[in-house]
Amino acid sequence: MEDLQKLRRKHVCSARRIVVKVGTNMLAAAGPPYGGLDDKRVGAIAEQVASLVKGGRQVALVTSGAIGCGMSELRMRNRPVALPLSQAVASVGQGVLMACYERHFRRHGLHAAQVLLTHEDFDNRERYLNASNTLHALFDLPCVPVINENDTISTEEIKFGDNDRLAALVTHLIRAELLILLTSVAGLYLERPRGGSPGKIVEVVERVDQDIEKLAYEGTSLSGVGGMRSKIEAARVATEAGEGALIADGRDPVILRKIMAGELVGTLFLPRAGRLKSYKRWIRFTSRPRGSLQVDAGARTALVERGKSLLPSGIKGVEGDFKRGDVVRIKGPKGEEFARGLSNYAGEEVQRIRGCQTSQIEEILGYSYYDEVVHRDNLTLLE
Ligand code: GLU
Repeated sequence: MEDLQKLRRKHVCSARRIVVKVGTNMLAAAGPPYGGLDDKRVGAIAEQVASLVKGGRQVALVTSGAIGCGMSELRMRNRPVALPLSQAVASVGQGVLMACYERHFRRHGLHAAQVLLTHEDFDNRERYLNASNTLHALFDLPCVPVINENDTISTEEIKFGDNDRLAALVTHLIRAELLILLTSVAGLYLERPRGGSPGKIVEVVERVDQDIEKLAYEGTSLSGVGGMRSKIEAARVATEAGEGALIADGRDPVILRKIMAGELVGTLFLPRAGRLKSYKRWIRFTSRPRGSLQVDAGARTALVERGKSLLPSGIKGVEGDFKRGDVVRIKGPKGEEFARGLSNYAGEEVQRIRGCQTSQIEEILGYSYYDEVVHRDNLTLLE
């Protein structure tokens, strides 16, 4: 492996567009019983982000903390469990959170531009492109997009799950070269830190595999969600599309400066292979699959080794009630998912034409839009 310093220069210092994710734990002020926002920490983040922007970089901030802030405003001791209540609490907290960012960014001649997103904005291709255009327009102003999930209207089905995932998807949305996940630990520990001993940090991860996933210990807090597992998963989503990711300690008030100067802080996840095209990323990571197609061994080989499209003849089974244009999983004979793509036919249409020759489509359905069920241009392999 190249030396660590060189890797930092190549994958971190050179990044021009960056996503920085800040977790609830980092923003919560200590002190009983209703901490509120740690104003100093928000100030430190704003100052560092502003200096990156002044240095010519584009930075999008993904921030949690709306529910935590709302809890403190409303004097609540426990994180609300019921969805409508947590949505209501988030709507109280989001304004307070933004006001704090705006106050700090203003000092540096910048504005904090609120962007609230739901998973539906990512699923729908048109909304996705709109959101991307808006973020690029904000960079040009220049402003700092301050992004959170639109908690107030996100129901269980359309939730991202956590802001680590949201941050990884924003990395794809704007094609950032680096995702920095700031948290309240120094990085990914080789073993769980125990009383007093600082523990050893993994300096660089070449590939997120099972050994790396095992290092995640579940840690969530009173007001946040996620934990190390969701950070590793976010790093996987970024690196598999060819971008770098870093998990580092956001409690350090100059952490971003250190990171961008190439200091060996936190855990660096190296990009895997080349940068994936924007459209293929959307198919592979962003849009949620609505069904699946099981194919035979011959079709699997044609897709994986010969770069072919998926024809009806190779399809053995269909699951899900998907529409034309939806993303579907493509599974091999053993049920293993190996690709994703946009289906040219709805689920019930594929049911009727599976196993048939292309020339029979029209006879069976009474029409034939395409010869392929999934065209190569709309397909991405997972390995
Ligand atoms: N959107 C939530 C909030 O602002 C946080 C989600 C998360 O921490 O991952 O409170």
